[in-house]
Amino acid sequence: MKAALMYGPNDIRVEEIDKPACPKGGFILKVMTVGLCGSDIRNLTCDSRKGNYPFIYGHEIVGVVDEVDSEVSKYKVGDRLYLFPGSYCMECDNCISGHSENCSNVEEGVAGTGGFAQYVAVSARKIELGGIYEIPEDVSFEAASLGEPLSSVYACEDNAKIGYNDVVVIIGAGPIGCFMSQLAKIRGAKTVIMVEINDSRLEMAKGFGVDYTINSLKEDPVARIKELTDGVGADKVISANPSNAAQAQSIFMAKAGGMVVFFGGVPKGSLTELDTNYIHYNNLWIKGHFGASYMQSKQAYQLAISKDFPSEKFITHRLPLDKINEGIQLTKTGEAIKVVLLPNEE
Ligand SMILES: [Zn+2]
Ligand SMILES: [Zn+2]
Repeated sequence: MKAALMYGPNDIRVEEIDKPACPKGGFILKVMTVGLCGSDIRNLTCDSRKGNYPFIYGHEIVGVVDEVDSEVSKYKVGDRLYLFPGSYCMECDNCISGHSENCSNVEEGVAGTGGFAQYVAVSARKIELGGIYEIPEDVSFEAASLGEPLSSVYACEDNAKIGYNDVVVIIGAGPIGCFMSQLAKIRGAKTVIMVEINDSRLEMAKGFGVDYTINSLKEDPVARIKELTDGVGADKVISANPSNAAQAQSIFMAKAGGMVVFFGGVPKGSLTELDTNYIHYNNLWIKGHFGASYMQSKQAYQLAISKDFPSEKFITHRLPLDKINEGIQLTKTGEAIKVVLLPNEE
């Protein structure tokens, strides 16, 4: 089969390798669509495996069951499935307390990688842990592949209780920012204001429920947000970018009693200086966000495949596996919102 193997930072080669053998108690999935994620790009462009190569990334996997071990009764050849890459034990204290996003028994590699290939092996353990969902006949593989990238966005807005009449500021108009904005509108937000430093990204974001755009290099975003909200500020501010300066500035965009969510990670080890007196006197809620609970990951998938979600707008590029390097460039430059690879198409 064909697979995109990583040999080192920025060294990704599409090669012919052996198709995986069907695992005992598991199945083989023919990969029909695999999304190219921001985290894949980070991993593929740095020494993410500390010299341990070759390696196949790709975790936004959907496909068709190609082979099934005789012990498996739950799935059959031809089933159309979406594999959520996360694993939740549902037995540790975090899982039982309703916070499976913090599961302390996360198992790596259960179905979290290997999707940049024509086939992936799904283990008995993954079947046991769950997070494998059927794709209805009238839903495209591409729409289903958005379940994973939507999961943390969905969880963030669920936890921040974004809802009816909210004024929401999103800082960072990348793919995640566009998901954030579209979902905020679906949840009933009144106004979405997008802050970003790249004009072409701001222009693209307008198609995803954004009411106002602000280029923070050209105008003061805090002053403009105050102007747009009668001097009040936003109910919720989501910092979805890797900038410490944006985090520091974000608190001044929220209204008194409002919430600021740090969604995007900043460079490892860097510290953000926050005016805690401002947070204190304005009763601000400051929240971090990462991942999604088991329930939220399922709800995000249900949203991705529902008619309420315009998945086709997000998928701007469909490429064969051979063009994975092109897909990485398209995503890096901001030309693409979402690139999906179709490993079984030429
Ligand atoms: Zn992803
Ligand atoms: Zn757990």
